[in-house]
Amino acid sequence: HFITFEGIDGSGKSTQARMLADHLIAEGHEVVLTREPGGSKGAEEIRALVLEGDPDRWSAETEILLFTAARRDHLERTILPALAAGKIVICDRFADSTRMYQGLSRGDLRNVVDQLHDLMIGREPDLTILIDMDPAEGLSRAKSRQTAEERFEDFGQALQDQMRSGFLALSREYADRFRVLNGAGTPEEVATRVMEALAEHLS
Ligand code: C5P
Repeated sequence: HFITFEGIDGSGKSTQARMLADHLIAEGHEVVLTREPGGSKGAEEIRALVLEGDPDRWSAETEILLFTAARRDHLERTILPALAAGKIVICDRFADSTRMYQGLSRGDLRNVVDQLHDLMIGREPDLTILIDMDPAEGLSRAKSRQTAEERFEDFGQALQDQMRSGFLALSREYADRFRVLNGAGTPEEVATRVMEALAEHLS
C-alpha cells in the first residue's frame, strides 16, 4: 500500500505520518516512512537546491522540472522497491503538493504539472489523507517552528488560504483515493481519525 499525507504548512501531516508509521510497525507491518521533496539521496540533494537559498533562483517552470526529477528518483530508488517488497509506504507529501504549490502558487501551471506527471511519474497513491486545517492556525504553527534556511516562510496568509481551498478541490477531483480529516485537536485525536480512515480504506 502506498499512503500519502497532504495538507497546508502547519497542518500536522508530518506528525501524523510518523504516528501512523509507528502504529503500523507496532502491529508488525513492514513500513517505509518517507517524504517529499526528498526521500532518496538524489531527491534530497534536489530538495536542498530548491528549498534552500535564494527563492528566486529558479523560474516556476524550472522548479516544476526539479520537483518532478526529485520525485522520479524517489519513486525509482525508494517507493517502488519498497512496494515490490510488500512494504507499506507512507509518504509525507507527494504529487498533490506539486499540483498545489507549483501548479497554483506562481501562476496557473497545473496543466504543466499534470503533463509531466503523466510522462515521468504516472503513479498515484492508493490512499491520500488530507489533514484539513484552518489556514491561520496552520500558519502560526508553521511559523513557530520554521527554520531559517527554509524558504516559503513569507508565503503568508493569502497563500495558506489558496492552498487550503486548492487541496479541498483536489480531494473532490480525486475523490476515490482522498480522505479529508479534521486536523484540529491533539495529535492523538487526529491520529485516531487517521486510523479510522485507514481501516475504512482497507475494508
Ligand atoms: O512538508 P514540508 O514542511 O517539509 O515542506 C517544506 C516547504 O516546502 C513548505 O513550506 C512547503 O510549502 C514547500 N513545498 C513546496 N512545494 C512542494 C512541496 C513543499 O513549495 N511541492
